[in-house]
Amino acid sequence: MDAVLGLHHITCIAGDPQENVDFYAGVLGLRMVKRSVNQDDPTTYHLFYADAQGSPGTDLTFFPWPQLPPARLGTGLAVEVALAVPEGGLGFWGERLARYWAAVHGLESAFGERRLRLEDPHGLPLALVEVVERAFVPWDESPVPADLQVRGLHGARVWEASLVRTERFLVEVLGFVPAGEEDGWRRYTVAGGGSGCVLDVQEKPLASPGRWGVGGVHHLAWRVRDDQHQQEVRHRVAWAGVSPTPVIDRFWFKSVYFREPGGVLFELATDGPGFAVDEDLERLGTALVLPPWLEGERARIEAALPRLRYPPTLEPVP
Ligand code: ZN
Repeated sequence: MDAVLGLHHITCIAGDPQENVDFYAGVLGLRMVKRSVNQDDPTTYHLFYADAQGSPGTDLTFFPWPQLPPARLGTGLAVEVALAVPEGGLGFWGERLARYWAAVHGLESAFGERRLRLEDPHGLPLALVEVVERAFVPWDESPVPADLQVRGLHGARVWEASLVRTERFLVEVLGFVPAGEEDGWRRYTVAGGGSGCVLDVQEKPLASPGRWGVGGVHHLAWRVRDDQHQQEVRHRVAWAGVSPTPVIDRFWFKSVYFREPGGVLFELATDGPGFAVDEDLERLGTALVLPPWLEGERARIEAALPRLRYPPTLEPVP
């Protein structure tokens, strides 16, 4: 079976877009690689943060929807996003977060990994996880030194009302393998495991279903190599009785969406063509980019969107 290749991107729901920029580009030092709009609601932003080139597997994206109520953590929803930082880097990150950010929960260890849990400005649960060296493209203009920068997405955690159907789907359809259990979390890895190829699942039979909202994860996107690989995995998804969408052209990649049997929204996203398809690599994220079919409405769309300050200014915690 041709398994998925690991995480491609994770999309979450934020509150105020400037606070989102200030935290992810300012405090965490990621590069904004695309400033666009939600293709289903062009009056709101879709903001993408990643390594310097927007490599697949490094991309965290946000729909800033401040009018929504807070997310409710629960089953059928991802409940944590883990970002990879270099081995030995949590000392630096602990100090940086203490200086510029407050909502830090402290160090812990899981599956042999050192991790620092925190929340973003809108309540999204995050973890910084130390990993052995992992390929990425450093961002020269980041406020974080290159040797300490976030390497990319490490993994995600989800809650499920029942584990059995989700496990079967992960293993038989997407190609994951079980990789141990600790503190009630069962780990699954794919594509040989390693950073970026990790999903932890906790069975919570008594928990309420989760609900999208500010500070919640919207979906997890898994990498497929190309159109053909996407079609192969899409067929297996359909065969398993889960209804995938048709292929949707997101311009920077092609997407197929479906809910895994426990309800978490998944996406299959192609590695290419990538974020440099419609902007110079040097200029990524500096201007509002619209898909071609919305270009005609640019003036109206720009007028409806709040101005963003980027790069942001960092303010130490008082
Ligand atoms: Zn997506």
